[in-house]
Amino acid sequence: MSWERQISIKSKAELELMREAGIINAEALAAAAKACVPGASTADVDHAAESVLKHYKVTSPFKGVPGPIPFPASTCVSVNNILVHGIPSSKVILKEGDIVSVDCGTIYKGYVADSAFTIGVGEISAEARKLLEVTEASLYEGISKMIPGNRSGDVSAAVQAYVEKNGFYVTRQYTGHGVGRRMWEAPQVPNYGEPGQGVVLKSGMTIALEPMVLVGTEATKTISDGWGVSSADMSLTAHFEHSVAITEDGPRILTLLKDGTPPVSGIRLTDYRIV
Ligand code: MG
Ligand code: MG
Repeated sequence: MSWERQISIKSKAELELMREAGIINAEALAAAAKACVPGASTADVDHAAESVLKHYKVTSPFKGVPGPIPFPASTCVSVNNILVHGIPSSKVILKEGDIVSVDCGTIYKGYVADSAFTIGVGEISAEARKLLEVTEASLYEGISKMIPGNRSGDVSAAVQAYVEKNGFYVTRQYTGHGVGRRMWEAPQVPNYGEPGQGVVLKSGMTIALEPMVLVGTEATKTISDGWGVSSADMSLTAHFEHSVAITEDGPRILTLLKDGTPPVSGIRLTDYRIV
């Protein structure tokens, strides 16, 4: 079966439910961002997000994902060299100068929102600042290609080009993905690719695009807990993600706050062609 036939097209009503899920998810991420202070543990960051999910009586699809152990938390909290899948821990304490990636999911009325950001703890190095800015901007570069008639390769290539132009690397191992009734749906949308390749994007498709960017190498390694994924050279890493609907009016980001702003951002959305 071709990729295209496996990709679910969401109705307007489904997109409104996904937007509701996205607002809750953004509020959870905003709470997590406020918890990223020196002396806090990564478990504290997870609890801040989870308290928002509990307030809305919703859950995260991350909890219980099968792996070396079932994933034990509502968020992934990944510090410095950890690119993704960090297990929140009371033993991992944040300090000034760290960068923290928080990835959160929400299931609301049967629909999933999936989004992530990376933030600095207090003052961070110039290199870390550049990494955050480039990674976030690469997400919007990709999103701006999410219009009907384009191909998924146009999105992937835009992310890759922006990251590599700025001297950083994208992972080959982990990809963005369709999102909807399930957290992982077709198609896969890598952070590298060729313009004009891949599936044709259609109105009603919903995709979680998630640039995962490394300072020194594209290579990764799994750490001893079996979940966390580190840069192979221990260099800094960052991760930004939005769930996005492809519409006739242009890409619609589902995981912004109710007021249309990202939960954490240094980027002006109006610089990009996004509805
Ligand atoms: Mg995610
Ligand atoms: Mg994702």
